This record gives sequence, structure tokens and C-alpha cells, in this order.
Amino acid sequence: MTLTKKIIIYMIVGAVVGIIINTTGLMESPFVGGKLVGGVFYVVGKVFLYSLQMLVVPLVFVSLFCGTAALKNPAMLGKIGGKTLTLYLITTGIAITIALSLASVIQPGAGFDLPTDVQFSAKQAPPFVEVLIGLVPRNPVQAMADGNMLQIIIFSILLGLAATMAGEPGKRVISFFEDFNVIIMKLVKIVMELAPYAVFALIAKVFAEIGIDAIKNLSKYFFTLFFILVLHALVVYPVLLTTLAKLNPLTFLSKMRTAMTFAFGTASSNATIPVSMRTVTERMGVSKSIGSFSIPFGATINMDGTAIMQGVATVFIAQAYGIDLTLSQLVTVVMMSIMASIGTAGVPGVGLIMLATVLTQVGLPVEGIGIIIGVDRLLDMTRTVVNITGDCAVTCIVAKSEGKLDERVFNDPDAGVIEEEHVY
Ligand code: ASP
Repeated sequence: MTLTKKIIIYMIVGAVVGIIINTTGLMESPFVGGKLVGGVFYVVGKVFLYSLQMLVVPLVFVSLFCGTAALKNPAMLGKIGGKTLTLYLITTGIAITIALSLASVIQPGAGFDLPTDVQFSAKQAPPFVEVLIGLVPRNPVQAMADGNMLQIIIFSILLGLAATMAGEPGKRVISFFEDFNVIIMKLVKIVMELAPYAVFALIAKVFAEIGIDAIKNLSKYFFTLFFILVLHALVVYPVLLTTLAKLNPLTFLSKMRTAMTFAFGTASSNATIPVSMRTVTERMGVSKSIGSFSIPFGATINMDGTAIMQGVATVFIAQAYGIDLTLSQLVTVVMMSIMASIGTAGVPGVGLIMLATVLTQVGLPVEGIGIIIGVDRLLDMTRTVVNITGDCAVTCIVAKSEGKLDERVFNDPDAGVIEEEHVY
């Protein structure tokens, strides 16, 4: 059995076990609720999450250093960077526009009974100039310790470029890091082997804790958002892949399954970076020099699923409070959601915090977030799947346009598949 199939089976069993624990009231029992869900499931899930996160910084640093060195050309880097950024912004723009249009038609918040006791206090987002200055890693070791992805990206690229210009010493260091990269990718595979059990624990815990009642009360919001997320992943990306890159979207989606289950289980684009990177390079034939840059870059600045959530949530909150959004407010939501998607780190739940900035900007009550927070975890998992699917789709499109996608690998269903016994 391939690893992907095993993960999917364990994920479904995890969801069923979680729902049973929740609906039968077993969650209240000290053994099941306390020791099993709060103990075993919690520990297994966290250990796996931390193991994935452990790989992110060394993997991004080493592979981006090697990837930049392989390009050997700063102008080329600028061209690829510009293309990737443009496509990331365009896909996020499409996402938020679809979200606002459909939510305005479906009206998820119309007639919603507003609870009287909702509370939410927003954190202040840093001013834009600070974000700009903060791109420069004043201390690269600190940047790595903090997992500050944009700073790590900038440092790795600069070091990679310098290495290509440094003659023999540069060549020696590049060859050392290329070997190091192979070792880290091996570690990625080993950690991925643990995924079925960990995904089971993560999913079972979420479903055991989420009351079905919470979803019932917010079903219109929940299902509108869920529907638009699925639509974006299954229609918008396939259309872009077909028209811009002439790549078979079904092959793409089928090869995305493993990364999607990781994103769903962890609700973190950042933690999924090792798997997304492996997917595009080894399963889809994207050259390392493009994948090593666009995946961590996308996991940090490209959040189509998060932008969709912000659009639907804004419309929902406006309708719940009986406030009509004007056209200029809607345009502001589009701009703010794109900015918020860039500013959102790829970790669980941050999209909701950034929503506060969007709401404040259009003068909507920030307390509205308190209404939707109860069902956010499941939606966070789903939008993370969309976020990473967008990163991988754009990566394939850019790679294809640069002649850096090996179509034989892309079209080979078995390329890079992990058969369990092959791992060690
Ligand atoms: N969890 C999302 C991600 O990591 C971000 C968010 O929307 O909260 O991609």
C-alpha cells in the first residue's frame, strides 16, 4: 500500500472515532476525554507536528541555498521571483473576489440570531514600514531560531548568490550543501512515515472536541465557506493549470493528495513545507531551484484559502449585524484580504487574527470574530489545504513557463511515490 492511501484511511478512521467520542458523550469521561484524547492523541499529534516543524528551517535554508546556486544568475532569480509573486497575488485576488461575490448571493449571515455575549479582543497588526524593514535578517541565527520565513528566504538567496560568485570555495560549499540536502530529504521521508498514526490522532482529537452543535448553529457560514474553498481548489487551479501551463489538472490533484492530508491534519502551511516541496520536486518534476524558492515563499505570503475565509466572514458578520457593505467597502475588503494573506504566517488559526484588521478597516465590529471562532478549527484545516494547493499550482505554472518542469516525471503516476518498505 502506498503511504498516501494509508494516511487517507487513517484520517477517515480518525474522523469517525472522533465523531463517535463526541456524540456518545464519551468525551466527558476522564479516561476517554482526559487520558485518550487529551493525553495520547494530543501527545502523538504534537510530536508529529514538532517533527515536521523541526525540518522546515534546515530544509528551506539548505535547499534554497542550493537552488539559488543552481540558477547561477541573479537576473533569472529576479524574473522567477517576479512571476511567482505576480501569480500569487492574482490567485489571491481571484479567491477573494469569488468569495465576496458568492457570499453576497448566498447571504450566510442573513437572519442570524446574534448572541449577546460575544467577545473578541484584537491584536494590533504591525505597520507596513516595519514589515518592510523586518524583511532584512539583522541576525540570521535569530531569524532561524524564530522561524521567520521571509528573512530565512532572503538570507539563503543572498548566500547562494554569493557562493556562485566565490569561485572554488563557493563550489566546495555548494557541493557540501547538496549532500546535506539529500540527507534532509531522507529525514523528510522518515518523518512522513509516521504520518498515518499522527494524522489519525490529530483528526480524532479535533472531531472529538468540536461539538456538532457548534457547526449546526453556524451551518450556513460553515457550508458557504467550505463550498467556496472546495470550488477554488477544484475549479480555479485546474483551469489555471490547463490554460497557463497545459498540464493535466487531474494528475496534479491526484499527486497533491499526500500534501493535502498533511495540511488538513496540521492546519499549517509552514509545517507542510517539507511535504509540499517533496511533492513538487519529486512527484511533479519541478526543478529544485524553483520549488525550493516558491514553496516556502508561498507558504508565507500566498493564502488563497485564508483570503476566502476573510471574504466570507466579513460578509457574514456584516449581515449578522444588519450592516450593508458599500462597493467601496467591498473593494477595501479585497485589498485588505490580499495584504492580510501576505501578512499571515502559515500556522494554525492566524487567519482569524488577521481578520480583525480587515474588519477594523471597513468599520465592522471585531467582536463578530467571537461568533465564528467556535467552528474555525475545521475550516482552518480546510483552508490550509487550499493555501498549499495554490502554492504548488503556481509553482508548477512558473516552472513550466521557464522550461523547468520535467513532464515525464509530472505524467508518471509512480514518480516519487513512497512505498513503505522503500523508506529505510
Ligand atoms: N492555518 C493557515 C495556514 O497555515 C493560516 C490561517 O488561515 O490561519 O495556511
